Amino acid sequence: MLEGILAYIGIGANLQDPLEQCRQALEELSAVSGIALERVSSFYRTEPVIPESAVREQREELEKQGWFVNAAAEIRTVLPPWKLLKELRRIENSLGRVRTVKGGPRIIDLDILLYGQEIVRDEELTVPHPEMHRRLFVLEPLCEIASYLIHPVFGVSMRGLKDRLDNDKIVERI
Ligand code: AMP
Repeated sequence: MLEGILAYIGIGANLQDPLEQCRQALEELSAVSGIALERVSSFYRTEPVIPESAVREQREELEKQGWFVNAAAEIRTVLPPWKLLKELRRIENSLGRVRTVKGGPRIIDLDILLYGQEIVRDEELTVPHPEMHRRLFVLEPLCEIASYLIHPVFGVSMRGLKDRLDNDKIVERI
């Protein structure tokens, strides 16, 4: 498939054999009509990041959760961003995701990181993903497959964003 937009998907899991969950999600992604899987990063073992919004009791719970497996995928797609989001939700549900607290453990999490150079902001979808530039567990795998990509809001490459990151979380290639 040559037509379509290059988009980047963030993949993460930390429950029930997370590596297998990520592999399964990639397989389901490649099976969607209108999506071609172009490139996939290595898998990474990453330390959980606790959202700043978490209150103390939540924070203590969240600190106990297991490490994540994360990866990034480059896809070529003819689906508009909202249809793509719908497909990601469908895959999350088919892998048995149950939504809990923000930043909490999850069987699988699929995010649209970038959709070409498009900027989308509505109540359902924000692209580029609003947290991507703050997270080494996103930028490390993304840099492995596309470090030259320019963030359409900041005008900085993925490599540049990663270099600017003040990060104390461990992200290691599996
Ligand atoms: P999460 O708990 O991380 O899966 O996010 C939940 C909600 O975030 C989804 O139901 C989406 O409506 C919304 N959302 C906003 N922007 C994005 C994005 N770029 N990728 C994925 N979900 C998004």
